[in-house]
Amino acid sequence: MAQRPKKVLLSGATLLVLGLSVVGISTFGSNVETVTAREVQQRTAARNNGWLAASFPVENFQAYTSPFGYRRSATGGANWEFHGGLDIAAPQGSYIRNWWVGTVVKVGDRTACGTHIVIKSGEWEHTYCHMEGHVETAYGRRYLIDRAGGIQIWEGQVIPTGVRIGRVGMTGRTTGPHLHWGLKYAKNYVDPALVLREMFTQQQIASRESRIVIQESKNQRDSGY
Ligand SMILES: [Zn+2]
Repeated sequence: MAQRPKKVLLSGATLLVLGLSVVGISTFGSNVETVTAREVQQRTAARNNGWLAASFPVENFQAYTSPFGYRRSATGGANWEFHGGLDIAAPQGSYIRNWWVGTVVKVGDRTACGTHIVIKSGEWEHTYCHMEGHVETAYGRRYLIDRAGGIQIWEGQVIPTGVRIGRVGMTGRTTGPHLHWGLKYAKNYVDPALVLREMFTQQQIASRESRIVIQESKNQRDSGY
């Protein structure tokens, strides 16, 4: 992921979202007031929407393996890098579901994100990385194809909420099967954990399942994505 700290709305060297409490610690914003204001904007964006019908993005959830925000670089030392999404571990081949109805604006398979899909839902943009399959072109249009998983997703296609759009794989820069799930609102990054927390609250899922515990990455080599 490109290093663009100026577009970060909420950064935290250690971001813990525990139950319904949010603790965002900004250690990189040169202008604390600006960061705080943007943090509020981000939370507002997450809360201003009705997520009653929203879908959790992956089946066979195992764990949140790397949070959104800044983390130590894969090369270690004093270097930090920005992680523009939430890593959700699931067994390889588990199905990925579309979080929110929208239009496929991009499919790709040549970056660290691996085989991926970007869906736009109004001002929201959701990205799914490291999927199984690859991209092909036909009739001048690009599509993601995962034949073993029975998946074919075309650019420009409208995808309903909850529909299977691919499977968890290991394409791109990753050391283990997981879904890297990125969210943007009005082109600014949003911490997916904020949205998931709001979803769980609205959907009144049992408290045990609604508790999101995100800690420092257990896999430091899985950097960038
Ligand atoms: Zn990631």
